[in-house]
Amino acid sequence: MEKLVFADGHMHSNPVKGLGIENIAKRFSSAGGWFIALVSLPPHHFGFDNSFDGYVKSVDVLIRECRAGKELGLKMRCFAGVHPAAVEDEISKNPKQSMKILEKALMVIDHIAKLVKNGLIDGFGEVGRPHYKSLPEAFIANTIILKHTLTLAKDLGAWIHLHLEQGGEITAFDISETVKAISIDKKLTILHHLDIATARHAQQHQLIFTVPGKIQILKEAFKSLKPMYMVESDFIDDPKRPGVSSYPWDIVDNQKKLLLDGIVDENYLYKLNVDMVSKIYDVEPP
Ligand SMILES: [Zn+2]
Ligand SMILES: [Zn+2]
Repeated sequence: MEKLVFADGHMHSNPVKGLGIENIAKRFSSAGGWFIALVSLPPHHFGFDNSFDGYVKSVDVLIRECRAGKELGLKMRCFAGVHPAAVEDEISKNPKQSMKILEKALMVIDHIAKLVKNGLIDGFGEVGRPHYKSLPEAFIANTIILKHTLTLAKDLGAWIHLHLEQGGEITAFDISETVKAISIDKKLTILHHLDIATARHAQQHQLIFTVPGKIQILKEAFKSLKPMYMVESDFIDDPKRPGVSSYPWDIVDNQKKLLLDGIVDENYLYKLNVDMVSKIYDVEPP
């Protein structure tokens, strides 16, 4: 068991209001963590407004966090985007301004594309669709942002983390068709936070994804999925909302517990935490 190391396939850090990457990295490393895919948080998490400038500042925070985590010896890939829930939130408060809100979001994505081109971040995320009922205007805006970002990711050969509605078969079918239409490499599109039903269908379409590292979900995942996905905490590093996601070290403990219980073997865990990560993200295994 000593040789087992663990990856967090999707998480956020907040150095302003939460633990920040330095604390997270130290604790995650001592639990056996070696890799983190770090994703930007919407500006309001840091106390910035949701103007273009607020987004630029929040992406700057991500870049600094990414650098700090790497200096502590973690392997990392870093992603910035416009969260679909943030778009939903803004448009539902002000549907008449939908076009303006969309244009700002696209400007943010274009700004991120420049940072990707300059090697300051590795890709886009998260973009997509919220997992709850959406105002039609917000749904359209998120769809446009998703297509625009997928096209940029394809052109730049960059990764993209997708936040989706967990619709099972229809979600997997839609993303599979969209990926084909845009002709982006499937290795670059990572569907995050999938439930088991959506994950099963995603595997039928050879899509790459992460599942939340909660014990019940992992139990199901280990039983019913091929080891061709990754595990995530989706930690949001918000001390005011401790229960909404797992701590990165909790997903490690949960995997170790299921190993000890005989629900999963070392080989399977190695595939998720090392093989998949090094293959998908082009990083040297530890
Ligand atoms: Zn998400
Ligand atoms: Zn997330």
